This record gives sequence, C-alpha cells and structure tokens, in this order.
Amino acid sequence: MSHTRGKVFLVGGGPGDPDLLTLRGAQCLAAADVVLYDYLINPNVLAHARETAELICVGRHGRDRILSQDEINALMVGHAQSGKQVVRLKGGDPIVFARIAEEIAAIEAAGVPFEIVPGITAALAVGSYAGIPLTQGDAASAVALVTGHERDDKPQPLDYAGLARFPGTLVFYMGITTAEHWAAALIAEGKSPQTPVAIVRRVSMPDQQTIQCTLATVAAEIKQHKLRPPALIIVGDVARAATLHDWFSARPLFGKRVLVTRAAHQAPELVTQLSALGADVLVQPAIEIGPPDDWSPVDHAIKRLPGLDWLVFSSSNGVRSFLGRLLETRDLRALAGLRIAAIGPGSAEELSRYHLRADVVPEEYRAEALAESLKSEAARGARFLLIRASRGREVLAEQLAGQGGHVEQVVVYTSRDVATAEPEILSQLAAGKIDWVTVTSSAIARSVVRLLGEGLRRTRLVSISPITSGALAELGHEVSAEAKPYTMAGLVAALLAAEGK
Ligand code: SAH
Repeated sequence: MSHTRGKVFLVGGGPGDPDLLTLRGAQCLAAADVVLYDYLINPNVLAHARETAELICVGRHGRDRILSQDEINALMVGHAQSGKQVVRLKGGDPIVFARIAEEIAAIEAAGVPFEIVPGITAALAVGSYAGIPLTQGDAASAVALVTGHERDDKPQPLDYAGLARFPGTLVFYMGITTAEHWAAALIAEGKSPQTPVAIVRRVSMPDQQTIQCTLATVAAEIKQHKLRPPALIIVGDVARAATLHDWFSARPLFGKRVLVTRAAHQAPELVTQLSALGADVLVQPAIEIGPPDDWSPVDHAIKRLPGLDWLVFSSSNGVRSFLGRLLETRDLRALAGLRIAAIGPGSAEELSRYHLRADVVPEEYRAEALAESLKSEAARGARFLLIRASRGREVLAEQLAGQGGHVEQVVVYTSRDVATAEPEILSQLAAGKIDWVTVTSSAIARSVVRLLGEGLRRTRLVSISPITSGALAELGHEVSAEAKPYTMAGLVAALLAAEGK
C-alpha cells in the first residue's frame, strides 16, 4: 500500500441546482483524484473538481447501469487503495434511497477509510423550491420518505395499511411509473381519494414543474402530462393549493431560455443576473478574447507613459489586459500624473479593481459621447493613448484627432470570432426553444449572425446599445429590446420590460 492514504468520500450532490451543493462537498470535489458520479449529476457540480481529476460516469438511476454495483465498488476501493482521494458523488443525499449500504460494506470490507457528506435530498428541496411546508402544525406533524419503486428482489412489499394511517405527509420518490399501483393501494387501505397531491418534477432546476391533483387522479395526471422522472409526489394536506408558496416559478424570467454570447470569461456576470431572475441560461461565446499577437508595442507605450496626458479605455478587457501587463514589470506609480477616461461603468468598475478612478465617464456609454467629453482637452492639444482591441471602431481616434488632440493607439488584446457553435445550441435554436439571445457588442453582433444564422429568426434579440442594434440591422436582424443605459444591468432591464415584467 502506498504511504499516502487513499480515502473514499460519499458525497451528496444536492437535488439539481449546482448552488445547492454543500461547502464540504465542494471541498471534497476540489481535492479528489477520482470522481465516480451518477448520471443525473449537474455538470456544474462536477466543475468543482480539478481539471486533472478523473471523472467517471457510473450510470443512471433505475435504468440500465453503465457499470454494475460490483464494478463501482471495485473502482472506489481500487483507487483508494492506490492512495487516491475518491469521491463517490450521488444525487440529493447519499443516504436517502441511494443504495449506499452496499457501497459502505465494500469499502469497510477493504479496510479503506471513508467519510459521508450529506446533500440536500429531493424531498427537502421540494419543500423550499415548490414552497410546500412538509410539516405544518397539527395537519402534518410527521413526514415519511417513501419509495414508489419496489425492488423485485425485496421480500417485503410496502406496508400500505401502515402508510394509509400515517399521521402526516408522504413523499414518494421514484413514484412516477408506479403511481397507479401505490395510489390504488393507499385508497384500498382507507386513505381518502380526495387527499391533496402535488407532483413536482425536476425540483430546483430551471424547468421545475408542479401539478396539483388528488390521490384519486394522480396516476391519470401523470399519464395525461406524460410526466417522466425525476419527480417527487407529495401526498397529504400540505399539498393543498392554498398552502403552496411557489416563489421559484413565480420569478419573472422563469420558463424563459436565454442564450448569452459574451466571451467566456465575461459571461458569468450576465449569467448570474439572468439566472437570479429565474431564466434558464445557456452560454455560447461568439468571440474569444486573447493576448495581443505582439506585446512589444504595449511595452513601448508603457515606457512612454510619462509623456502622455490621457489614458482612454474603451472596454474592461482593455483595462485588464493593459494594467495586467504593466503590473508584471512596474507598479501603479507608472501612471502618476496621467488622467484616465473610461467609456462606461464596466471599464470604470474594472479600473476600480486596480484602485484607479476614472476622471471621465461620459453620460452615454459610446465612443461619440466619450470624444465629446474630452473635446476641450483635445482642443488644447492633449496627448491621448487609446487602449484598444485588435478590431473596433475608429470613431474615437478620428474625433479626438479632428478636435486637435494627439492620438496614439495600442492594441492590448485580440478579439476573434468563435468558429463554430455547439450543435446542441443550434438544434435548440432551430426548434424555437431559445426565447432570447443577448448581443452585447457590434463585434458579437456580426459573429452571432454568422454563427447562428437563420436560427436567429426563431428567437428574439436583445442588444446592449443602438450601435449594436445597428450592426444587427445591417445584417438583416431586428432587435426586440435594447438596453438603456448601455450596460449589462440595462440589458437585463430591457429584456424584463419586453417580457412585460
Ligand atoms: N439520493 C437522492 C434520491 C435518489 S432516488 C436524494 O436524496 O434525493 C431518485 C429519485 O429521487 C427520483 O426518481 C426522484 O423521485 C427523486 N429526485 C431526485 N432529484 C430530484 C429532483 N431534482 N426533482 C424531483 N425529484 C427528484
């Protein structure tokens, strides 16, 4: 055995929304060498693992397994015995209907140390995410977690007489395909056919769905709506309409699918804002931001900073790239005496991360307005260094020079079109399943039209500014909403307004 001791962590991944993973679960994943995960685990949960970790999908619950239980056990134990940290990641909580006893037995038999990290089980998530108080005063003073899926090899069938008399809420897991059977059995044992029932599918996910019915109608409802797992079925008074507080699907963009097309490192800000409003957000970057092909003009410009009056930033990428390069060899004193202009709040905020404050931010966030704000400076012959991308508008340089300024430009990052879109995104777009596509610059506008093509006719476009809308219009695409102010928050507000929210 190796001197580093391997260990197995049985970790609950939570009900679906990756943010519902516990901090301990995230720590275990970050430290894992090997992750064995169930089919239903959200990829964003797996994203906590290191890039070098080996990720193994072991199969889907209740269906044909990719790996047998014996194979899973052998993998867990084998990797741990070779000194590795192994995470066995299960949906929800690792103890609830998760066949964990067999796994623990195998780990213990091999003498491998282990730890169990709880997760939010589906039944508890449903209480919060569908707003169903599972316990409630006298009406529900107990909760039973019940499996609707009786295993063929199980000697004892469920005690339906006992369940029918249970003084509280019944929550069925794996009950979709077997509803006809268990509902009839409960009724036969004396439970009222009028007992309120709530079926909640895909709890905590952007397409969560709740259907209310009664014990008498639950099987028919499932058939009629063609409901498929995963779903929970809550049986009891608490499932009555009057007691539901479904804040989750009441959020303003719930049920809307939005495609964000910003560069990968810039997408999260917009994704977070849209997701918080309930949208199902997909990301397909239309452009890629990278370092300039040649740093020497940037280094040269940095050396000449003392002879300049103004540094002018037209994007937060420019701020990050230029200051990042400067700080590799110098410190912020290199900027002493310079004045700084930023095109909008995004660049100004990025500057503030470097403890710099923009002296000028125009009221309207576009090149023309920035040139206007700097007009008197240009007129007195000030020397400007424009920090820019490999492509972009020439308007600022032209106007400042036209007003009498001395203008130099330096390319600090490259912006390239992404070559191809994910096939999954294209097929969802073609099927009309994407409600909105965000377009946050003219460069992105041109790339999006090329990448997504005719699919764009089956969705709506929201643009960051009139310039961006103009770039789309030139290519034959009209926008349905336009930001004002020209910021990410402005774009989100425009989208909400267009949805009548
Ligand atoms: N260990 C898991 C349960 C695994 S059994 C837990 O603690 O949640 C699989 C069943 O869990 C599914 O058939 C379904 O009934 C339920 N389930 C899991 N995730 C769910 C979700 N997001 N929405 C609704 N039901 C879910």
